[in-house]
Amino acid sequence: MTEIATRLTQVRQQIIQACQQAKRAPQSVTLLAVSKTKSASLIQQAIDAGQRDFGENYVQEAVEKIQLLAHNTDLTWHFIGPIQTNKTRLIAENFSWVHSVDREKVAKRLNEQRDPNITPLNVCLQVNISDETSKSGVNPDELLALADFISNCNQLRLRGVMAIPEKTDNIETCLQQFNALQNLFKTLQQHYPDVDTLSMGMSGDMKQAITCGSTMVRIGTAIFGQRN
Ligand SMILES: *Cc1c(COP(=O)(O)O)cnc(C)c1O
Repeated sequence: MTEIATRLTQVRQQIIQACQQAKRAPQSVTLLAVSKTKSASLIQQAIDAGQRDFGENYVQEAVEKIQLLAHNTDLTWHFIGPIQTNKTRLIAENFSWVHSVDREKVAKRLNEQRDPNITPLNVCLQVNISDETSKSGVNPDELLALADFISNCNQLRLRGVMAIPEKTDNIETCLQQFNALQNLFKTLQQHYPDVDTLSMGMSGDMKQAITCGSTMVRIGTAIFGQRN
């Protein structure tokens, strides 16, 4: 077994355990392997170990790897990084999901640039739940307005919300922010019943995220090791 296969097995085990403790079905959580800065050959090792969903943050780097790995069937690529407007076309053309939509201008461009002959682009709205002014993400009080805009975009499919909590060692703060996002997710579901994705939890806080209802954890370091 490669080191990556071993780590993937451990992460899958941890997800199952966290689900059992939270009395949730293990299949209710999708593992997104975050492969930013990691080479196509390392990603191939994860693919060979059965991983199919991958998250990337840097458009150019991602598109190169997507092309190199295109011979693998059934891969699903998720864009999870901050979005510059001049990169929306490459995102619309190369990804199945984007988790980091936080403004209308970006949504409008993605909608116009997504080929209407393929499946719509799955969209999660990134929410600023930690109220740090520097962070990207829509403010919670503007979430429904942005969701309304997206729901009128034919080439986009609203799937849910995503957030990155404030970096902290305080578990209570982390849980508080995850609960806040879960509440926003439930509110969004009441308006848009097709919404099914609560994208939260990374290598350091996966367990807490699953406790708070996460349906998709975004795991980089625990699978691929430290990034330079
Ligand atoms: C890098 C990144 C991750 C993965 O973080 P790890 O701590 O390495 O698991 C998850 N989500 C986003 C948005 C990221 O940028």
